[in-house]
Amino acid sequence: MLGQSIEDYLGAIFRLREGKSAPVPLSSLSEHLGFSAVSIHEMVQKLEGQQLVNYQRYRGVMLTAEGERLAQAVVRRHRIWERFLTDMLDFPWDEAHILAERLEHAAPQEVTDRLAALLGNPEECPHGGPIPPQPNTQRGQLLSQLPPGAIGSVIRIRPELPELLQELHALGIAPHAQLRIVAQMPQETVVQRDRQEIRLPAALAGTLWLRVDV
Ligand SMILES: [Zn+2]
Repeated sequence: MLGQSIEDYLGAIFRLREGKSAPVPLSSLSEHLGFSAVSIHEMVQKLEGQQLVNYQRYRGVMLTAEGERLAQAVVRRHRIWERFLTDMLDFPWDEAHILAERLEHAAPQEVTDRLAALLGNPEECPHGGPIPPQPNTQRGQLLSQLPPGAIGSVIRIRPELPELLQELHALGIAPHAQLRIVAQMPQETVVQRDRQEIRLPAALAGTLWLRVDV
């Protein structure tokens, strides 16, 4: 059994690297996990000792084949639990992420696989994240990079950080929402949903990935 924190690190590297094969800088890991550079460095050495990652000085970490296998398994468990929580237990999508953070470490693989079968083997989590073994690629265009006038639907929220999910939920912006871009400014993006205008600070606009309709 791996410790919970090892699983969290592997899952974070997998998520941050998504769609590309470049090393993940330790500064991104530190930002994503909210740990100091020193503890990140210590953990990376530990993971390297267990042959789960390769660390290249000044560049970052990459998963080894074994690290990749374990990371995929933990991300799969996380996203299947999220689906179960939203689809079967009616938890809001922002809370599901936080609950799944705990369940992903507790449930054996067998339980996750049966749960997946019960749910009809979903391909995406409620936030649009592909469930391994679905390919780990980024789809859609980032909201903050779309021109005013563009209309699209939210197909992905990434990164999934609890505070950001809660803020989006509070603003009434959910996965599948259709948005029209009203204005792009360095500090914020203004969108229209139904007839309502919503101002999204850059931190939130940078998490929404849209499939553009027009
Ligand atoms: Zn998710």
